[in-house]
Amino acid sequence: MLDFDSLLTDEERLIQHTVRDFVADRVRPAIAEWFEQGVSPVELAPELGKLGLLGMHLTGYGCSGTNAVSYGLACLELEAGDSGLRSLVSVQGSLSMYSIWKYGSEEQKQEWLPRLAAGQALGCFALTEPDFGSNPAGMRTRAERSGTDWVLTGNKMWITNGSVADVATVWARTDDGIRGFLVPRGTPGFTASDVRHKLSLRASTTSELTLDGVRLPQSAMLPHARGLAGPLGCLNEARFGIVFGALGAARDCLDAAIEYATTRIQFDRPIAGFQLTQAKLADASLELHKGLLLALHLGRLKDDGKLRAEQVSLGKLNNVRESIEIARTCRTILGGSGITLEYPILRHANNLESVLTYEGTSEVHQLVIGQALTGIAAFR
Ligand SMILES: Cc1cc2nc3c(=O)[nH]c(=O)nc-3n(C[C@H](O)[C@H](O)[C@H](O)COP(=O)(O)OP(=O)(O)OC[C@H]3O[C@@H](n4cnc5c(N)ncnc54)[C@H](O)[C@@H]3O)c2cc1C
Repeated sequence: MLDFDSLLTDEERLIQHTVRDFVADRVRPAIAEWFEQGVSPVELAPELGKLGLLGMHLTGYGCSGTNAVSYGLACLELEAGDSGLRSLVSVQGSLSMYSIWKYGSEEQKQEWLPRLAAGQALGCFALTEPDFGSNPAGMRTRAERSGTDWVLTGNKMWITNGSVADVATVWARTDDGIRGFLVPRGTPGFTASDVRHKLSLRASTTSELTLDGVRLPQSAMLPHARGLAGPLGCLNEARFGIVFGALGAARDCLDAAIEYATTRIQFDRPIAGFQLTQAKLADASLELHKGLLLALHLGRLKDDGKLRAEQVSLGKLNNVRESIEIARTCRTILGGSGITLEYPILRHANNLESVLTYEGTSEVHQLVIGQALTGIAAFR
């Protein structure tokens, strides 16, 4: 509708189309089954690595070093397949790898980043706790000194890729404030159990992590992250991917709804010919394209090094909220068929419930924007 492609460079278009083709070949044929079975397609990680999609906007250590807009477009195409797949890539690149790339020692970078970029290892990012979600500053997980070692004790909740990760970035309270630690899988005292009975992001592993006296050397600490600014810096990266990503799910819903509406006959004519159906499609298209322009604007700001946290909040709040609305509206166009996994729409809508909640709930982003507008923090 807006000739959005014309706003992109040749390289950005090429990356977008490459990811779209990958999703068509490797994800679409199997995604309904993965979702139904509750399976995370982690075996795709080496292929995602080969395509350069893991930590793609980071530089060095085997990372692709693309611009932020390309990263956003890749997230959009992955999420058009499934939000669970985009979550796998976001957590790997923006949370796990970014935490090491930004705050890690040279040894930590050499040890983990090339393997994570190639998809030969998986990472996770453990900030949230059972009693501290929107307010991570209250975390109870502690890291205590024991000689030259650290001993970590606590629980982390809702951790994407938790049980399948080779390395976890764990945030813990110390006498010196909140610090990050790299915990390899198999470290004694470190266990993960998966959250069962999810109705959203079923094609993504979500785990609870238990740290029961996990002993780590000093070299496991991320030397350059101090305080909550460390994890929040990572979350800002991942949120940026969601600003684009959620629109992929919305686009897929709109495409499916248009196709269905033009072939479904009621009252002797395609339901696409009814004005009420067209109003729904027009409004969905309008919000999708407004969201795309917002995402691209934020992406260009990021590439210019000018993107502020409250601007990311604005993008995440709007684009996830509108995407979920588009998904629900498109679902009505499919009538009864819309509630099955034969069509992608309710799967996307259910997934977007998680996307609305993680990386800062919509309410938290309203508060961030409210603070930027008024100068008054209303979090507590
Ligand atoms: C599928 C999934 C994957 C996730 N992956 C990860 C991960 O990989 N790593 C990780 O660390 N975390 C992860 N999370 C956790 C996620 O970030 C948290 O769920 C989120 O921050 C919200 O925390 P909570 O669930 O404890 O809800 P709460 O913080 O208890 O919030 C409940 C409700 O209260 C509202 N609320 C809270 N405080 C305020 C306030 N001050 N003013 C107004 N309203 C308020 C919230 O907006 C929300 O509506 C994941 C979550 C899900 C669902």
